[in-house]
Amino acid sequence: MDTYARFPLELVRGQGVWLWDSQGRRYLDCVAGIAVCTLGHSDRRLRRALSRQLARLQHVSNLYVIPEQQQLAAAITARSCFDRVFFCNSGAEANEAAIKLARKHGHQVRGISGDAAPLILTAEASFHGRTLAAVTATGQPKYHRGFEPMVQGFRYFPYNDAAAFEALLARCEAQGPRVAAVLLEPLQGEGGVHPGDQAFFHRVRQCCDERGILLIFDEVQIGVGRSGAWWGYERLGVEPDAFTLAKGLGGGIPIGALAVKRQFDHFCPGDHASTFGGNPFACRAGLTVLAEIERRGLLAHVQRLGDRLEQGLADLVCRHPQLLEGHRGWGLLQGLVLRDGAPSAPAVVKAALSQGLLVVPAGPTVVRLVPPLTIRPRELALALERLEQALLSLV
Ligand code: PLP
Repeated sequence: MDTYARFPLELVRGQGVWLWDSQGRRYLDCVAGIAVCTLGHSDRRLRRALSRQLARLQHVSNLYVIPEQQQLAAAITARSCFDRVFFCNSGAEANEAAIKLARKHGHQVRGISGDAAPLILTAEASFHGRTLAAVTATGQPKYHRGFEPMVQGFRYFPYNDAAAFEALLARCEAQGPRVAAVLLEPLQGEGGVHPGDQAFFHRVRQCCDERGILLIFDEVQIGVGRSGAWWGYERLGVEPDAFTLAKGLGGGIPIGALAVKRQFDHFCPGDHASTFGGNPFACRAGLTVLAEIERRGLLAHVQRLGDRLEQGLADLVCRHPQLLEGHRGWGLLQGLVLRDGAPSAPAVVKAALSQGLLVVPAGPTVVRLVPPLTIRPRELALALERLEQALLSLV
């Protein structure tokens, strides 16, 4: 079906940060399947681990114990503040699970009666996925249009605005408990690469603690090493009660996860399920990605390369002040912000393609760079050169 406005580009092969099209042209990939291909394309270790897994077992069912799933849950909980994990297949699905958990928390813990929808507060310009509840959680009306009525029980406030958040919370709770959860990205990716503000997140944490409201982070894009820490919440110094993962966790194999602290694991057998969720193959991918991040020291690498990318973008902003307003991001999730009146982000993305560079817009004025975490310094330097050539080709 015609759901994508695609580039006329047929990508047929990949190696590391490089992709080749069907005409044999080569592209430096700073999209990585939109923050998915953590280890780059066709990684030898991932290939080998998955081939072995295919030879042994791909899929059974959650009717049975799945050792690879238990191991991946243990690997996630050992590296995070969480105790329990539910596996699914995508970011939207992970957020659906989180939304159901939030509703149960609202009814069971906060005592919100069955006929009043427990409220979930989310941020304007957020992005949480395209299934009906996840897209309702997404604070961007353009994604709602044509699909109304949306799911009930969501309210929105401006990201990083503590006063607005507190005012909304007070309004929602004026007659007693109504709010079940707050769902936030530690860094808004799709909505324009906006890093979370520490003071704001601390205040939200405090308000949630005072009332017993669940604080859930959507780490679908920023989680799994992309920020230079394992998880985005470490960059903020604020622990959520639960978080969602997907994208980079499987390094290109579909997997999603909801991880929670023990005391917020309100699900009982039968509450939630997924046929494919946490199958041996997808979990082997997750296990290999986490092991390789550790074995190759990729967190420190992302910090170093993230600093270089930031510096490179800052230099671009200095050299082209008429086109560029600034840059922002964490680690290897960075956005270059175009000025009003400058070419749009989609125009820059198209020009970059002509220079053999893949980048992706995050809204109309931000060009997003999310390369594989394995990108090398000289490849990053080349990406910056090509991005500058793309900008110059438009003036
Ligand atoms: N949450 C965030 C923060 C995302 O960036 C995305 C996708 O871009 C999603 C959720 C949805 O993930 P998926 O496309 O795997 O459903």
